[in-house]
Amino acid sequence: MENRQKNYGSVYDTKASMMYNRFLKQYNDWLSGGPIPDTGNQDTKYFLGQQRKRLEKRGLHRDSSIELRGLLASAGAIPPKVGKKYTNVTEFRTAQRNTTYSRGGRIIGKFRKKEILYQTITFANEATVDGTEPCTCPSCGAVSQIKALFEGCPYCHTRFLMQDLYPKVAKTSAIPRKRSKEH
Ligand SMILES: [Zn+2]
Repeated sequence: MENRQKNYGSVYDTKASMMYNRFLKQYNDWLSGGPIPDTGNQDTKYFLGQQRKRLEKRGLHRDSSIELRGLLASAGAIPPKVGKKYTNVTEFRTAQRNTTYSRGGRIIGKFRKKEILYQTITFANEATVDGTEPCTCPSCGAVSQIKALFEGCPYCHTRFLMQDLYPKVAKTSAIPRKRSKEH
């Protein structure tokens, strides 16, 4: 994988950076118990939902926040992968994640982790997407054609605009740079 500071001058540059920051803000809210980010696609939302369920099952409370820090705190990207109908842009930033785990009000672990936080953002190519493509309803999760979602989802009847459907964060992951346990 090619990692570098971005300099590819793509039209996706600014849009992908904006999406990255919007998702990060929502992700931070989610880490503090807020709603699941609506800038994430269905897979991302499902993944985050499962993660929270696992914590709840184990009776764990997590307090966590991510701060962009370090060399690539503002820029870092892999050149876009341009497909026929969709373009995927992967952006990354150097960050620090502070996490506290507690159970029944007692702190059981505190972690400070330096990481590289990746987000892959999927854009629809406006010139080639014709509306017949399958898309997951952001509201109820049922799959319909894009054009059906414009007219109102056949299942939940919510209407969407193209900007409600794309771009979305299709994947997020973090690679540790250094790990230190405080307690
Ligand atoms: Zn729906």
